[in-house]
Amino acid sequence: MHFDKTIIYVDMDHVLCDYKTGFARHKARFPDLAFPQSEPGLYVDLDPLPGAIDSYRWLHNHPETAVFILTAPSIQNSHSYSEKRLWVERHLGMEVVENLIITPHKHLNRGDYLVDDMPSGKGQEHFGGELVLFGSKSFPDWRSVRDYFEERLQYDA
Ligand SMILES: [Mg+2]
Repeated sequence: MHFDKTIIYVDMDHVLCDYKTGFARHKARFPDLAFPQSEPGLYVDLDPLPGAIDSYRWLHNHPETAVFILTAPSIQNSHSYSEKRLWVERHLGMEVVENLIITPHKHLNRGDYLVDDMPSGKGQEHFGGELVLFGSKSFPDWRSVRDYFEERLQYDA
């Protein structure tokens, strides 16, 4: 189905979603809880990071790519599964919900690129493709990620 395309995975927290700001907001809402993320509402209410939605759509609509969201759940918090699904529908639409993969084992997915802010912990270190480390010196923001793929996809064509 996607064998002739460049397969790109994109993480959610700290990549598409502003988890840092959202967590601080949620913590202020539940100041007495050690784990405020255990209360529903955190994941679905996260703001997109600057440029995330436009860049994701650009990647998704590129004729050479098959793009998927690859996010690890917070396994203690079952609402994180449904709220991630709702977030994707709200910000990217049902077409992208079709390409939402929620897994704590990212390396089991075959592909060419993984855009993630973490180099390890959820299987990133064993991913078969190239890790595009979001937030690093080379990829501090979505502009730099998009520039990179503009060059790579053109080059690969
Ligand atoms: Mg992340």
